[in-house]
Amino acid sequence: MNAQELPRDLRPDTLALHTGIHRSEANEMSEGLYLTQGYAYDSAEQARDAFAGDIDIYMYSRYGNPTVTAFQERLAAIEGAESCFATSTGMSAVFVSLASILGQGDRLVASRALFGSTLQVFANFFEKWGIVIDYVDAHDNEDWERVLATPAKAVYIESPTNPMQDVVDIPFVAALTKQAGALFIVDNVFATALGQKPLELGADAVVYSATKHIDGQGRVLGGAILGSADYVDGPVKTMVRQMGATISPFNAWVLVKALETLSVRVERQAASAIELARWLEAHPKVSVARYPLLPSHPQYERAAKQMTIGGTLVTLDLAVGDGVDVAGPESQAAAFRFMNALRLFTISNNLGDAKSISTHPATTTHNKMTPEARASVGISETTVRLSIGLEDVEDLRADLDQALAQV
Ligand SMILES: *Cc1c(COP(=O)(O)O)cnc(C)c1O
Repeated sequence: MNAQELPRDLRPDTLALHTGIHRSEANEMSEGLYLTQGYAYDSAEQARDAFAGDIDIYMYSRYGNPTVTAFQERLAAIEGAESCFATSTGMSAVFVSLASILGQGDRLVASRALFGSTLQVFANFFEKWGIVIDYVDAHDNEDWERVLATPAKAVYIESPTNPMQDVVDIPFVAALTKQAGALFIVDNVFATALGQKPLELGADAVVYSATKHIDGQGRVLGGAILGSADYVDGPVKTMVRQMGATISPFNAWVLVKALETLSVRVERQAASAIELARWLEAHPKVSVARYPLLPSHPQYERAAKQMTIGGTLVTLDLAVGDGVDVAGPESQAAAFRFMNALRLFTISNNLGDAKSISTHPATTTHNKMTPEARASVGISETTVRLSIGLEDVEDLRADLDQALAQV
């Protein structure tokens, strides 16, 4: 069946299998992999017309590639976005989503709690280029009101945040962003396309690191920017094409196939995550277990309104005892003992993988922040981020239990 003949109103699980299909004359069942740098023209006239923009055909793989198109169309269908452009990595998606619309003197408003490299790009490049950046406490609506009373060009958030899983009130910030005349961009990696629909909640654009849940099996890097055709096919596409932050067709092929199983993987991982979070928060060696859809989460009501799945991560603080400094070396030693004792949770900084992962944010992903900045977003030496994989949940629980016994 051709994409044009698909029934209307299909749901994301079905769209994940039946969109982005452009069969070649070989009529292959699986999506084709077009490992090609460029394309041949039928005639000199056709090349002329393509360069003049009079016809729309593939010209060069930095500009477009059929395998990349398949990935973009499929992800756009799942997200419910008008348009999608793929990028080489999640960070090139983050960078282009903002750099393509910001110039000297423009004001960017962002939540304080962001992916480590995103903060580095803001501090080391955007500020140097004269972009004015104001930070907000992600979960604090009064702070958003205060900061967005002044016009801005772009508002950028992650929700839930990395690694503390603060939940931003997306519809509230969307309304303020509109009044401020800004474009509202959401990094939706933690929630995934299945757990949260920022565009329906009022955001203008969504960015992904496809390296995380979309691949979900630790194989390739990739990213994507989704939103209106005006934005995605305008400044975003122009910038990616010219600067070359293009995704490899091979990576796009891995990702287009991975989208077919995204929902079964994420639903299973999320089911294990909430079960383990519930068990961890009752464990005497754990002081806090953070998961957006646990009633103990400080923004639980908000999360329950805007998320249908709480994600696949659990962030915990180990109970190190009264009088022990949570920012001190004893706390770090306790966290390291716990992580080194885990056998099924591999120590890595990836997340969303089929294999479970443990991360110590203070000494890895967030080590470039000052201790004060870390404390302001709630990261201490006792904080461990767990990415829950596809292993049997009972095996994961037993592994956590034996490792906690060593703390
Ligand atoms: C990993 C990640 C990124 C960056 O993605 P890469 O594919 O590593 O470049 C951006 N935002 C969040 C929330 C991430 O987890």
